[in-house]
Amino acid sequence: MIKAVRGTRDLLPPETALWNFVEAAVRDVFRAYNFQEIRTPIFESTELFARGVGEETDVVAKEMYTWEDRGRAESDRGQSLTLRPENTAGVVRAYIEHKMWDRGLNKLYYIGPQFRRERPQKGRYRQFYQIGAEVIGPASAGSESPARDAEVLEMLSTLLDRLGITGWNLELNSVGCANDRAAFNEALRKALEPVVGKMCVDCQRRAVTNPLRVFDCKVPEDQPIIEKLPRISQFLDEGCRKHFEQVQEILTKVGVPFSLNDRLVRGLDYYTRTAFEFTHGALGAQNAILGGGRYDGLSEALGGPAAPGIGFAIGEDRLVMSLQESAPAESVLKKPDVYVAALGEGMNGEAARLVRELRRHDLVVDLGDESFRLKKSFEAATKAGAKYILIVGENEVKADAFALKNLATGEQVSVQRADLAKKIRQ
Ligand code: AMP
Repeated sequence: MIKAVRGTRDLLPPETALWNFVEAAVRDVFRAYNFQEIRTPIFESTELFARGVGEETDVVAKEMYTWEDRGRAESDRGQSLTLRPENTAGVVRAYIEHKMWDRGLNKLYYIGPQFRRERPQKGRYRQFYQIGAEVIGPASAGSESPARDAEVLEMLSTLLDRLGITGWNLELNSVGCANDRAAFNEALRKALEPVVGKMCVDCQRRAVTNPLRVFDCKVPEDQPIIEKLPRISQFLDEGCRKHFEQVQEILTKVGVPFSLNDRLVRGLDYYTRTAFEFTHGALGAQNAILGGGRYDGLSEALGGPAAPGIGFAIGEDRLVMSLQESAPAESVLKKPDVYVAALGEGMNGEAARLVRELRRHDLVVDLGDESFRLKKSFEAATKAGAKYILIVGENEVKADAFALKNLATGEQVSVQRADLAKKIRQ
């Protein structure tokens, strides 16, 4: 038997109703903040992620699905392609490719699958879904303002509230800008020198190539050492410090609770200044529902103009998981309003005609088959969770009035064809 590949999974009904519920709320909330949807390709040239996300990040160094293309045309052959492990690099590539700065401030969101070859476990998959948003544009359009950071964070708290997700915690940090980072990396290198020999091989490599990434280390034995390392908060320049203070001031003003965590550096190299994560207690080991931050240098790193930006990615799989208890899929699924039973030979056509009318009145209608007996029709209607069963038999068709039975109360009435939709909707 062929099964779904390790780390991938089928999303089945009724759970998919929950996914749709989440996505509808997302579109609604994001729209209120004037975000618009963007859809970028699922695979991109490998170089985009190497340059955008960073060679030394776990994502790029270990987790990407990369292959060499073998197209017929000379121009395709040998091209290194990668299934996107995240969507920010793709959005910024599109921003540059379509010269989107002509429109000033761009507020874009996406919903879609991402791919990382991680060790699968609960809440961690190799194909997973992210819902993300990016605010990007020239600084003259206000893209650098702490007001943008705060707006994005406030939007996230509104979305989680709207979905009825309680018990989340917003962790906030500033990872500084290029200048701060150089001084910080230098200090980290120095602090690591005498101790790095006792750390894991990844950290030994990171200490040389990109010391900041030592903070990504999950090896328990390394944690006491990491705990004693200098923190970026000690290296922020005046501008970064002020920016960070203003973000916090606005959040306090609008009533979004947060806590500071100066170990939070996020696993992607492009972040500058504000970095954040929302965690949720009920998720267990993989407790981050979403993460994000500012990436003021990313556009330039990808060959574009200066275009400060800030964004986030929500792990949709985890968001749905944290919802499952408070809003079971059954509760958001729209069950059939009516099950139409065609009773007797030659009734499939009559039933199809009636069903077509009802569905055009925006009713959810399920349909049986003329080979079913009455008992089987009732069973099918009950199984489908329909509110009503409607009988289409020879006598009903002749009279142009149909037996409509409420499956919960057992009440049965005869309703004229023209009144059916109205009666069912009541
Ligand atoms: P990142 O793109 O690494 O900043 O991750 C943003 C969010 O995506 C995380 O907070 C998770 O909720 C989610 N996420 C990242 N990797 C995975 C994965 N392998 N499986 C499920 N969700 C993930």
